[in-house]
Formats: sequence, structure tokens, C-alpha cells
Amino acid sequence: MQQTPIVFNRPYMTGKELYYIAEAHFGGMLAGDGPFTKRCNAWLEQKTGSSKALLTHSCTAALEMMPLLLDIKAGDEVIMPSFTFVSTANAFVLRGATPVFVDIREDTLNIDERLIEDAITERTKAIVPVHYAGVSCEMDTILQIAKKHGVAVVEDAAQGVMSSYKGQALGSIGHLGAYSFHETKNVISGEGGALLVNDSALAMRAEIIREKGTDRSRFFRGQVDKYTWQEVGSSFLPGEVMAAFLWAQLEEAERITQRRMQCWNYYHEIFAPLETEGLLRRPIIPEHCTHNAHMYYILLESTKNRTDVLSKLKDAGINAVFHYIPLHSSPAGRQFGRVQGELAMTIKQSECLIRLPLWVELGIGEQEYILKTLKKILNDTTKI
Ligand SMILES: *Cc1c(COP(=O)(O)O)cnc(C)c1O
Repeated sequence: MQQTPIVFNRPYMTGKELYYIAEAHFGGMLAGDGPFTKRCNAWLEQKTGSSKALLTHSCTAALEMMPLLLDIKAGDEVIMPSFTFVSTANAFVLRGATPVFVDIREDTLNIDERLIEDAITERTKAIVPVHYAGVSCEMDTILQIAKKHGVAVVEDAAQGVMSSYKGQALGSIGHLGAYSFHETKNVISGEGGALLVNDSALAMRAEIIREKGTDRSRFFRGQVDKYTWQEVGSSFLPGEVMAAFLWAQLEEAERITQRRMQCWNYYHEIFAPLETEGLLRRPIIPEHCTHNAHMYYILLESTKNRTDVLSKLKDAGINAVFHYIPLHSSPAGRQFGRVQGELAMTIKQSECLIRLPLWVELGIGEQEYILKTLKKILNDTTKI
């Protein structure tokens, strides 16, 4: 038995966070859109190629800005996977829209682009690809379908910071994209997020919606001599303390990704024999996708009892977790959503998935202990 339990996630600090927070403190500018927010926005624009990046206080907030920007209203429909985090759906349900859940692909667990077209009705306003584990959805096909039917593509790229699809940064491919800097993600600020506005026609309104529906951003730039209420909006911007923390992380984003990738690659290597033995399936990364090592998951053979495996791992001091309870099967999902087809793959994969500990300072010894323990559990677990 491992001496101290291996935690599922340990937030990594670069060491400069407090230094930049002190700089914000002594600078005396603590509200949003100060120097650190500007620096972070510029970094995101430069890194992703998006024409406008705006920090938000969470990815949830960035997602909530999307229906406002696209004028999505009660009765409209938005296509998304059921295999995702609640915020993907909530953001649109808040405006009275209906999430239409489509099944996922067997390999990447991302929305199955081949099933999207059948879900489109005259009420459809947007498609929301969610890039699970920082691995891209099939964006070319999704963009083609959207164009053909005149609907928007908005990316839930919460897990996709530093990932790309055919060389293009996730979040920068659709009309809009949302990033998360929550402490469970790769690059963090506790709570935090960003909206990428890739369609420049939406840029001005994005600023207004984020600033309580006012043109305060233009006022601060000296483009108008007073600011007023322009349209429906809310407060979606973070304060400078959060932005200062995030800046320390963005500066190191490359190195954070590299170090996570070492852990990911090591898992992938040592789990290969277990896959050959038929005990589990490892993640599949399509050739044209560059991922960010956000997550290492395994898919158990469906005859294994996942709850049992998780509890045995816990007894051995390994904190592994599952993901997600599909939204269409949850109380709110049933109330607010609509299901397209059977969602058989969503149900199957969500019941077999285990996420393993993955964080920057996770050691090779710990990974080997996880391998050894899991191998024993899977060999011992009697088949049903
Ligand atoms: C983490 C996550 C979110 C929410 O991010 P917050 O920053 O916590 O609001 C939304 N969607 C997906 C797919 C996520 O993984």
C-alpha cells in the first residue's frame, strides 16, 4: 500500500503567482480589464490566432455569453453531446433554449459529427462541439454542416487550452470558443475562463455584454465620451487579482503542457500491454489532432464493474474518478433537453470510463504503482 494517497489532481503553481498579485496590489488597480487582464487577452489572441480574447470569471460565464451574442431565445435548439459538463447545456437553457443531445464517437468520445445533420431542425441555432480531454472534434465536417444550414458553431474548449486541430488552436475555429482556467484544468487561476470571439462581427457586442450591457470598454479607450446601457448584459469579467495569477500560468503554459505530456505519454506506454491483454482501452488521438495532455482515461471492458474497480483503487490509495453522468439521463437534462437517437455510445462509454491522476508533479514511481495496482485489480475482478 502506498504511504500517502495519490490525489486525483494537484494544482501546479509556477512560483510567480504571488509576485504578480503583489504587483496588482501595489498598482492599486483591482477591478477588471487592468494591465494583467490586457496582457492575458493579448497572449490568448497571439497564441490562438483569435481576433478577440476576453477573460471571464469562468468558462461557464464565457458559455453564458454565447446565447446572448447569438440572440438565442426560448424555443431555439442547440446541438451538443450529452457526454459533457453541465455548463455546456445550462448556458443555453438559461435563455430558454433546448439542448438537443447527439451521440458520441467511439474513439474520441466527442460528438459524432455523422449524426449532427439528422438533429437539425428549423429551430436549430448552433452546434456546440465539446473537445473532450483536449482532443478536437471533427471540425471540418462540423463547420461544413453548420454553413450548409446557416447555424453557428461555438466551441466548448474548456479542456482544450494549448490543443489544436490541423494546426489551429481549439476555441479559435468556430464563431466563438470558451476556455476554462478552473483549478482542475491545465493552466489555472482557481476559477477563470475566456471567451474567444473569432467572428469579428461579434467583437463589439461581446465587449458590451461582458460589461453589464454598457459600452464602457469603448469609453475607457476614449472612443465615446460617456458610457450608457446599450443592450442586455451582465458582469462577466474577472478582477485583476485573478488575472495576475493567470498571467504567471500563461507565461509557463508551454512548459506545463510539456510536463503533463510526459506523464500522459508514460501512462500510454505502460498501459499498452494491458490493452493488448484486453483488460482496457487507452485513449485514441487522431493524427490531425495535437492534444494538451489534459486527461488520461482508460475504458474498462464492459463486463468489469467500474464502481468496484474505483473502490479497490481507493483502498490502495489511488484517487481515480469517473466522468460524466450523461446529461440526457439527469433530472434537468430530461426536463430541458431533447434526445436525438439512441445515445448508445454515450451510455456505454460513460459507464466504462475511469480518469487517472494526472498532474505536473506526478512521479514515475506513482504511475508505476498505479499500473501495478490496476493490473492486479483487473486480473482479479471476476467477470460477470
Ligand atoms: C470545466 C468545464 C467547464 C466549466 O468550466 P468552469 O471554468 O469551471 O466554468 C465547461 N465545460 C467543460 C467541458 C469543462 O470541462
